Amino acid sequence: MIEKLIVGLTGGIGSGKSAASEAFEGLGVRVIDTDKISHLLTRINSDCLKIIADTFGSNILEKGQLNRVKLREIIFADDAARKKLESILHPRIRQKVEEALSDTNGPYTIVVVPLLVEKEPYEFINRVLVVDCDEKTQINRVKKRNNLSESEVRDILRTQATRKNRLAVANDIIQNCGSISALLEQVHLLHEKYIRISSELNDAKNRGNTSK
Ligand code: ADP
Repeated sequence: MIEKLIVGLTGGIGSGKSAASEAFEGLGVRVIDTDKISHLLTRINSDCLKIIADTFGSNILEKGQLNRVKLREIIFADDAARKKLESILHPRIRQKVEEALSDTNGPYTIVVVPLLVEKEPYEFINRVLVVDCDEKTQINRVKKRNNLSESEVRDILRTQATRKNRLAVANDIIQNCGSISALLEQVHLLHEKYIRISSELNDAKNRGNTSK
């Protein structure tokens, strides 16, 4: 039986995952962001960064810091290298997510996983929330935010699930093609919905306990 509501928030690059997560955080919801965990794990002088440098060569470091662009180039061009990097990072990220989850007590928790659809990494996620927008908007946002060309953004998009595949596994969808206030409005509605679902889960759990 599902004991706790854990919502996996996902979406393509530039769809608005961070914007949506911040909106949930603004409502007091605990958000665990696997991207942020990954950045923390690979910060300067970290054990994980040492392992990555030993594996991929010290030229992926720049003044001791991880050169993320260089590492991305390596794993883009080489599937085995990508798998190797994943085998270093994923178990460590998972451990941090589990630690953070054991330390949450709100009605529900959001776990942000950019590649949730592609990797299906966390069986404890019991609802999938997809942040969606059309490809043109996505590309324009990422070009602006990351200072990339259209073809560079398209290269990244090709490594991600298609919009259709992502939407196919969604329990809930945030349409983020419009304004930030439209995004906030949807987050509010979902917040109410998740609190309702969470209380239903609790009621079911309590009924289960009393009938034992
Ligand atoms: P992701 O985390 O999915 O990559 P972000 O939340 O960082 O995407 O959004 C990508 C960029 O688009 C950011 O610069 C963000 O400020 C901007 N953005 C997100 N949603 C909207 C929106 N509804 N209107 C305008 N800009 C937005």
